[in-house]
Amino acid sequence: MKYKVNENCIGCGLCPSVCPNVFHMTDEGTAEAIEEEVAAEDEAAAEEAKDGCPVSAIESE
Ligand code: SF4
Repeated sequence: MKYKVNENCIGCGLCPSVCPNVFHMTDEGTAEAIEEEVAAEDEAAAEEAKDGCPVSAIESE
């Protein structure tokens, strides 16, 4: 699974706190996901971050 943060992100900071191995905040104040395939052990936390995003800004494929 790969994750992407779209332009809806409001920079609430939730996803990096839930899943720091996949998400981080950029200098622009919004979140960004790693470009690589997410490691199996990080998938549960990444899904939790996606489900918890208040503006549904996290997409997966
Ligand atoms: S949880 Fe959603 S709104 Fe909050 S920083 Fe992450 S992508 Fe942005």
